Amino acid sequence: MPDDPHMDPFEHLEAAEAIVRAGARLGARGLIVAAEGNLSIRLGDQLLVTPSGFRKDELSVEDLLLVPLDPEPSRGAAAGDGAGGGPRPSSDIAVHRAVYRARPDIRAVAHAHLAASLGLTIAGERPNPDDLPETRLLLPRLPFVPLLPMGSPEIAAAVAAALTEGPEPLAAAVLQERHGAVTVGITLDAAVDRLELVDLLCRVRRDALLIEASRRAR
Ligand SMILES: [Zn+2]
Repeated sequence: MPDDPHMDPFEHLEAAEAIVRAGARLGARGLIVAAEGNLSIRLGDQLLVTPSGFRKDELSVEDLLLVPLDPEPSRGAAAGDGAGGGPRPSSDIAVHRAVYRARPDIRAVAHAHLAASLGLTIAGERPNPDDLPETRLLLPRLPFVPLLPMGSPEIAAAVAAALTEGPEPLAAAVLQERHGAVTVGITLDAAVDRLELVDLLCRVRRDALLIEASRRAR
C-alpha cells in the first residue's frame, strides 16, 4: 500500500480489510461476476478503491489503490489514477468521487451490476421500495438514473444528484438503467447491505411480474 505520511496506517489497514471482506461477500451472494462491481472507502481527502480488471471477490489488501478525492486539475483526471502504467482504479471512479463530494456524511460507496435489476430495467420496469416492509423501512427511496455512458461525467453527476435531492431522508441507493445500483453508507458493510436490499427488491418484483404474466396466460 502507498506510503503516505498523513495516513493513519491502522485506519488504512482497517479500510482495506473491510473492502476485501465486502468483495468476498458480494461474490458469495452471487451479486458480482467476472471483474464487475467496485467498492471504495473515504480516508480523509483520499479514496481507497478497488482496481479495474480484478475479481472483487478475490482481492487482497495489496491490490487496493489510494487515489485523491480531488485530483489536481493541472495533472488532469488521471492524476494518481495509475497513469504510470500500474493498476488503475475502477472505471466508475468518477461516480465515487462525485458521490463523496456531494455527500460528506457518507464514508463508503458500493456498486454492483445486480442481475435482476438489469432485467427489470431492460424491460422498462422500476421496483418500488414500498412493495416490501423491509425496503420501505430500510431503503425508503430508490431514485432511478437513465442509461448514460459508463464512467462519464454525466453519469457521475446524475448519481450524485439522485443521492442529494430531497425530500429527507436522502436516498442511500440509486438504481441505474441497465447498470445495477450504487449504494452509500457510513460503513462499507452498510452500503453492501443496501446493495443486497436492492437486489432482493428487484428479484421479488421480477418474480411477481412473472407470476402475474403466467396467471394471465392461463
Ligand atoms: Zn458498473
